[in-house]
Amino acid sequence: MTVTPPETNRRTTRQRAAVEQALADHAEFVSAQQLHGTMSESGVRVGLTTVYRALQALEQSGAADVVRDEVGERLYRYRRPEAGHCHYLLCRRCRRHEPLDTDAVEEWVAAVVRSSGFADVEHTLELTGICAGCRNGEDHGLPVRTMS
Ligand SMILES: [Zn+2]
Ligand SMILES: [Zn+2]
Repeated sequence: MTVTPPETNRRTTRQRAAVEQALADHAEFVSAQQLHGTMSESGVRVGLTTVYRALQALEQSGAADVVRDEVGERLYRYRRPEAGHCHYLLCRRCRRHEPLDTDAVEEWVAAVVRSSGFADVEHTLELTGICAGCRNGEDHGLPVRTMS
């Protein structure tokens, strides 16, 4: 544990709680910048750096799932306690995502843990791609229509 002055500590805790709440309000994956944007719009004064740090802390504590978008930016999604441990397949273009059946992976991880003698083993699994909807729009060369 690092020793931090109580005042700084309290403020950090409060801001992190605000970031966690904001993330929980999003059903989709969001970037730190997007989250910072929506927090600013709703009147929450918090720095972008704080949002980044808070999201990292949430990731490390297992409260957030993380994937990377098309340009490698980290996208976060709140891991609801009732949802449990889950992995997703995410579209890098439209950010549509669906939970994956990863029983085979979880069994393999458990076997590795058993045979390795390691404790507190954690894993992350990122699967990203371009979804059928996005691919169709692209492959058929459909003109982009704007609603007027
Ligand atoms: Zn897509
Ligand atoms: Zn897993």
